[in-house]
Amino acid sequence: MKGNINVQTENIFPVIKKFLYSDHEIFLRELISNATDATQKLKALSSMGKADVELGDLTIEVKIDDKKLIISDRGIGMTQEEVDKYINQIAFSGAEDFLEKYKNVSENLIGHFGLGFYSAFMVADKVEIRTKSYTDAPAVQWVCDGSPEFTMQETDKPDRGTDIILHISDDCKEFLEERRILELLNKYCRFMPVPIRFGDESYWEDSETEKDSDGKPKRVEKKRPRIVNDTEPAWKKTPANLTDDDYRQFYHQLYPMNFEDPLFQIHLNVDYPFNLTGILYFPKVKRTVDPKQNRIQLYCNQVFVTDSVEGVVPEYLMLLHGVLDSPDIPLNVSRSYLQSDSNVKKISAHISKKVADKLEELFKNNRDDFEKKWDDIKIFIEYGMLSDEKFCERAEKFALLKNTDDKYFTFDDYKNRIEPLQTDKDKTLVYLYATNKDEQYSYIAKAKEKGYDVLLMDSILDSHFVNLLERKFEHTRFVRVDSDVVEKLIPKEDKIPEKLSEQEKEKLKPIIEKQLDTKKFTIQLESLEETDQPMVITQNEFMRRYKEMSMVGGGMGFYGDMPENYNLVVNINHPLVGQILATDDEERQKELVCQLTDLALLSNGLLKGEALTNFINRSVKIIK
Ligand code: ADP
Repeated sequence: MKGNINVQTENIFPVIKKFLYSDHEIFLRELISNATDATQKLKALSSMGKADVELGDLTIEVKIDDKKLIISDRGIGMTQEEVDKYINQIAFSGAEDFLEKYKNVSENLIGHFGLGFYSAFMVADKVEIRTKSYTDAPAVQWVCDGSPEFTMQETDKPDRGTDIILHISDDCKEFLEERRILELLNKYCRFMPVPIRFGDESYWEDSETEKDSDGKPKRVEKKRPRIVNDTEPAWKKTPANLTDDDYRQFYHQLYPMNFEDPLFQIHLNVDYPFNLTGILYFPKVKRTVDPKQNRIQLYCNQVFVTDSVEGVVPEYLMLLHGVLDSPDIPLNVSRSYLQSDSNVKKISAHISKKVADKLEELFKNNRDDFEKKWDDIKIFIEYGMLSDEKFCERAEKFALLKNTDDKYFTFDDYKNRIEPLQTDKDKTLVYLYATNKDEQYSYIAKAKEKGYDVLLMDSILDSHFVNLLERKFEHTRFVRVDSDVVEKLIPKEDKIPEKLSEQEKEKLKPIIEKQLDTKKFTIQLESLEETDQPMVITQNEFMRRYKEMSMVGGGMGFYGDMPENYNLVVNINHPLVGQILATDDEERQKELVCQLTDLALLSNGLLKGEALTNFINRSVKIIK
């Protein structure tokens, strides 16, 4: 029999070739998916007693034979009528719609829709189907050379099932290379539910007959069929049957190049109102995360689809690892459509909720362990709290604050802890924090001497996070520990008596200013304890925070451009400051001012280069 494949279809082959140019390789996934479906259908029919067949070995086989690539299955096969219906008619009935729908879509967006059987023509000049139905019908051979003409005739295939024979075209020779096919099988078919064989693999065994020179059995190379897939991946199993070790092993199976163990995992298993299975792993966060590595993989019934999961997974969880498998995610649509799809929205919300539940469970069941993991998971939680209000509400129960002594507190615990000492005269609760334990060491120490607690907020998101907390907590202010002298961080009623009169203060200021770059420093005279440092450098809390936020990206470019500016707090009660006033010798004044400001800069890690050398030389002179 000869025939024409539907009238409007003349256009489809160029379309297949052109649009899918960059994604040629998916033909293998499509053909093996068909083979898998045909096998699963036969199994189902047989178990329902509707197919009287000996199932036998159902392994799908992929073979390279000279210029042909052959995919064989032992599934239900097709009768001549079925080939006519499914291959000649159905597959092309939508050609018009297809062209209409995709003509405006840019190339790289396509590639994830099931083009099915006809994707074979992306790589082959000629495609043959040899198939025999599980019923008694005679076997059929169908041949098409890429034009809309085909031939179909009876043939003598003895076994049940289908062979798809691709005569690979000259410009697609890569698909005749063993390495390339193996790579594709690993990418797309690694977890398909029916065993897939591709050639043989070697293994070594003790020989039963041959011995080597010391009489031991000789190691001999043997061959066995190479099965490329794991038909029962962990995410399809019941969580109760899996140990942590099983999960870890599966993780390494997924990412053979990643040697680090994950922290923990979340096994997803939903069948209503959408179908979703999968395992998400929380990785250990490295300083530099490469978002291109170990990405979450998206499957549709164990068939790999993509590893770009934008839209399906909430943004803050994109850096998790693992797999998601759902037949309910529409794959043949653009990303923007995906994000507005209601099923996809539900899936994303569900994932977010499951992650929050799991975190809460970990927190409740084993707080110590949760604290140990905190530093690694904090980035996800902070990002989630900043970007997803619902998650934020849930996370308030388990989110932790860490102080500079490496102790962890829930929000509530921490509030209770600091309330007695860190409430200022206006009843505002002041949270002190440091961003760097070494650089802000002296400030942290001072605050602690006063009985205050200092949080450590050192992640890249913390400047944004501090703002979020300030909005969430009522009557609360966050203040970096070096933004003022300790007495003024949390203003209380009691004031220290001043040793200098107003006149003396007015006289002192210009003497100090004369020695300094007043663009960089603002002089602030304060009445502090005599035993406090004579001079201290501080940086305005808000100016600094805006600058930092504009560095992480937050649309505050203006503040980012502001020059560095410091407050030089002068303790008017300190005897050395008194000496500046007491002497008329300008040299001595200069020496005192420079030495004291340099000491203040030094304790802040701000004294560098030439200024540091000058300071050292001056100090040596003074010691003499
Ligand atoms: P889809 O798989 O999306 O339905 P295809 O064009 O890939 O579209 O295939 C069309 C139909 O041809 C399938 O639904 C199936 O009925 C039949 N078919 C394709 N490949 C096989 C196969 N290996 N064995 C049996 N039937 C097949």
